[in-house]
Amino acid sequence: MTTQLALQPSASAASKQHFRDTIANPVEFQSINDLLAAERGVIEALEPEGIRLWGASPGSIRQWEKLQIGDLVVFVADRIGFYLAEVACVFDNPELGARLWGLDAQNRTWQYMYAVTNGRYVSIATSEINSAVGYSPDNNIQGFLVLTPEKSSVAVGLLNATNTTSAPAWVDHIPARRPRNIDISVESVQSAINRYREIGRDAFLAESGGNKAFRYVIAEGDLEMDANAIVLAAHNAAHPDQPLRATDFDGNRLTVAEPLRQLGFYVDDLRAEPGQDAPLGPDPEKYIELASRLEGSLDTSRTSGQRREQSILRGALGLYRDATVQCGLCGKTYPSGFVVAGHIKKRSECTDAERLDVINVAMPICVFGCDALFEKRYIKVINGSIVVTNSGIADVDAYLDSLVGRRAPGWTSEREKYFAWHSEQPVLGTS
Ligand SMILES: [Zn+2]
Repeated sequence: MTTQLALQPSASAASKQHFRDTIANPVEFQSINDLLAAERGVIEALEPEGIRLWGASPGSIRQWEKLQIGDLVVFVADRIGFYLAEVACVFDNPELGARLWGLDAQNRTWQYMYAVTNGRYVSIATSEINSAVGYSPDNNIQGFLVLTPEKSSVAVGLLNATNTTSAPAWVDHIPARRPRNIDISVESVQSAINRYREIGRDAFLAESGGNKAFRYVIAEGDLEMDANAIVLAAHNAAHPDQPLRATDFDGNRLTVAEPLRQLGFYVDDLRAEPGQDAPLGPDPEKYIELASRLEGSLDTSRTSGQRREQSILRGALGLYRDATVQCGLCGKTYPSGFVVAGHIKKRSECTDAERLDVINVAMPICVFGCDALFEKRYIKVINGSIVVTNSGIADVDAYLDSLVGRRAPGWTSEREKYFAWHSEQPVLGTS
């Protein structure tokens, strides 16, 4: 198979920074170990001191998909092909992209990655590369491009015959990206929140230098506050001599959402699928605490209130991403995407205290029938056992027959009062 040649423009300030941080200086394995899978073994054998990584943005996915191990890549800036290396592995890893390079203005990252090995600096005018592959000499190489096999074989010959040089001056002149260690505490975040409430959004954004949230907001009551601006203000209150600016850190999950969540603040992801994100991790206790702090804000018909309540209930019941969960009625185990956090006692009938009893007022219910049949009360749970009312529809009744008399694994003595309420309600129609 022919070795392909990829042209990798790296001329913008951001690209040069990326080159400096993750190609010229390999990324130490220990800093990204938690996000690497099989690729680590492949790369470590070739480059034991670290991994030299590049990432293409989603706009370049078609080109990136063509890339093969063993292909050559030439990095181009300022009309010079300046670095030539071999592709060691190709993989997709958005979390790693966000950690290494942050997010772009559209909140995307450079997730389509490749690691390189056997790199060397060269200095070859792009006009020469262009001429070799049949482009006009002044063609401006824009966007990541994998050349056809025919063009590649000519250009690879040319590049392999090029002498090794030293790095372009800019590589050594760009300082390392500032470490993005965010130093915040419950107190500093709370006082930033208080300030936000006091002066309002526009004034707070101006004062903190933060941006309007694209993705993460701290939700308290009916307010949704721009999380990155809160983090900036909280950090800077503790470090007035060396304040961070919005451009010094990337407002992503790892730098904004996770640190706030670890402190117990409720961070909503405006872009998450509804109910798919358990924002405080797997510990149910955190949701009990959170529900009580959000008292009042759950009792709202607004979409954000419902989104918040579902995500709290799901977290409290262990329905977080990638979990498998047992249905509280049929007892079957399904991926969390097929299980809802279903209210046992209807939400609108609950007292405030019952609504905050997040572990007991709801239970995991599968969508394969149990959820709809429980809501319409064809299934009831009496003293822990399933009692059914036939619908008169053969296939529905076949489902009910498979459950009747069984113990409901979702029944607990703490939930009994909610099941009791449910069992006293009339059966609803099937239409
Ligand atoms: Zn079920």
